[in-house]
Amino acid sequence: MTAANPSKGCPVCNGFEGLNMLCPQCGEMMEDRGRFLDLLADYSPYRPIDDLKRTDGYPDLDTHQCPHTLYCRNCGHDQLMMVAEILL
Ligand SMILES: [Zn+2]
Ligand SMILES: [Zn+2]
Repeated sequence: MTAANPSKGCPVCNGFEGLNMLCPQCGEMMEDRGRFLDLLADYSPYRPIDDLKRTDGYPDLDTHQCPHTLYCRNCGHDQLMMVAEILL
């Protein structure tokens, strides 16, 4: 959790709206599997904030867009969707 910009947030993560994305392959409704970053959290262990700030070239994902992973149960297609953050 970053408190750097508390006034903006992802409307989907905050429950204001759902993702209504149709699968480009079969046209079925895709399912939101949550934040991409949460999936990454399983992959890379937590590091101290100061350490992250010092790391040059660390991907800056805090660009007011929230990456969500979408998955189609019908055909198994998955893709990333960037959700623009809004003022909360
Ligand atoms: Zn989100
Ligand atoms: Zn599909």
